[in-house]
Amino acid sequence: MELMKQKIVSEGRVLPGNVLKVGNFLNQQLDIAFLTEVGQEIARLYRDAGVTKVITIEASGIAIAALAAQALGVPAVIVKKHSSANQSKEVYTAEISSFTHGNTYTAAVAKEYIQPTDRFLIVDDFLAVGNAIVGLRKILAQGGAELAGCAIAIEKAFQGGGDALRAEGIRVESLAMIDSMADGHIVFRS
Ligand code: 5GP
Repeated sequence: MELMKQKIVSEGRVLPGNVLKVGNFLNQQLDIAFLTEVGQEIARLYRDAGVTKVITIEASGIAIAALAAQALGVPAVIVKKHSSANQSKEVYTAEISSFTHGNTYTAAVAKEYIQPTDRFLIVDDFLAVGNAIVGLRKILAQGGAELAGCAIAIEKAFQGGGDALRAEGIRVESLAMIDSMADGHIVFRS
């Protein structure tokens, strides 16, 4: 998506540790007109994929997950982050290590929202090494739900998570793919 690349170039900032800051339009402040287009683009890509629900992890994926769900005409499920393991029998959980925060948290979602009749689209703002998506797949598997694929706003392709998923045969669509951010200079995969 050309517009996503333009936004990254004009408004993104490369921080130490291979972190791209896009607080201006995707994380802290939301450019709703732009993100609506992002949701529509995701819906265009997955229109014929039989998606019944969108799923993401709080908090930064929620905006685009909601807008993609709206464009697809399906509900959006938000997986919660807990600092410690939740022992409730009513939730599916997965341990996920956070790329940006360097900690591990327990992702949890009520079982009722993950049904064997569901076919999920995973949506997230970033894909780096892929831990968040691996965790979401574990949660979907516990509920016996299918995975239609993943839609990512920004894939840092040089961190390998996306290509590992594709090698497994999983459909991963990223609206911008970054091959390098060395010295603060962003190189996109064409
Ligand atoms: P992964 O689990 O694929 O390693 O990392 C994906 C998650 O980490 C995303 O949900 C996102 O919130 C966060 N993340 C990873 N890299 C970045 C980055 O460069 N910038 C921001 N803002 N978040 C990131």
